[in-house]
Amino acid sequence: MHIARIVVHAVELPLANPYRLSGGRLYFDRLDSTLVRIDTDAGLSGWGEGCPWGSTYLPAFARGIRAGMEELAPQLLGLDPRRIEIVERAMDRALPGHLYIKSAVDLACWDVLGQAAGLPVCELLGGREDEPVAIQSSIGTDTPEAMLADIAARREQGYRIHSAKVGSGVDADLARIRALAEACPAGESVTFDVNRAWLPDQAIQVMNAIAGTPAYFEQPCESYEQCLAVRRLTAHPIILDESIQIFSDIVRAQADGACEAIGLKLGRVGGLTKARRIRDFCVNTGLRMNIEDTGSGGIGDTAAVHLAQSTDPLFRRASWLCHDMLAVEMVEGGARNEAGTTHAPEASGLGVTPREDLLGEPVAVFGD
Ligand code: MG
Repeated sequence: MHIARIVVHAVELPLANPYRLSGGRLYFDRLDSTLVRIDTDAGLSGWGEGCPWGSTYLPAFARGIRAGMEELAPQLLGLDPRRIEIVERAMDRALPGHLYIKSAVDLACWDVLGQAAGLPVCELLGGREDEPVAIQSSIGTDTPEAMLADIAARREQGYRIHSAKVGSGVDADLARIRALAEACPAGESVTFDVNRAWLPDQAIQVMNAIAGTPAYFEQPCESYEQCLAVRRLTAHPIILDESIQIFSDIVRAQADGACEAIGLKLGRVGGLTKARRIRDFCVNTGLRMNIEDTGSGGIGDTAAVHLAQSTDPLFRRASWLCHDMLAVEMVEGGARNEAGTTHAPEASGLGVTPREDLLGEPVAVFGD
């Protein structure tokens, strides 16, 4: 079997509600997703997706995926998409770095592999665990009242785990954190995700001012070194998210004792193949994970849920379903919010396809 054609689509995804990250630092109302379809000579087709969370969240942007496909696609035609790590090495040789571009291709290859094997991808990533995958909400930065209202709305949809975005100065953040922590009922939890917005002195002031309040803090500062300095002067569990990009990042973080959990986002680390290695390291060294994608109309979300579904539940925190925040349904099938949990589809491959009526004409076609 070989890759005969690679088809690229761009799809605009409006958010149901405009979103603010880190105290208004980032604001947007729509996502730009790139869908990649790999067609094989055997008649199987696999879908992948790359959807950066806007262009200001990570060193990644939507049009970059489309440009990168022009570099990668000619190197991939003719390869067997079921040979996942051979495709991975071909991409790493053809285009060092640029992991977010490769993720979409990697997901499409796993979709083909699963279909060829007649198995859902979670079975190929280690095997389906029975326990459903818990999902977490994503609460944009706002006044404490508005954030509590957003949490209440998500609670109505079944969410019990909330990721509240903070990061706009010591006093305003302390007011938010105290209000949300105080209102959090038994059986629910709130993570405070700073998305790199604090300087170390701000992080240390805020976290130590509420030292007795149980809470996780995520990516408090811009750099790994700043986060490590915060880790050494505070007591709350810390989640590293943006700082974990390649395998050696997690090895260093664990050796330094820099975090107690990580955000494992497919688009940031380069897809399921590279995420699986990081997942296995975390399971073997005692780190919990939020396994999700950077953004998604449903294909990236579902791929991440396959990885979460095949992960020992002890090591899972929660997964974010980006598509649950959209004003449109982009896909058929796939992992869905089922009152606060989800599960990987039973169909072979990823078990999710885009709605044909939303796709429009491809922006690029490579191969015959
Ligand atoms: Mg985060």
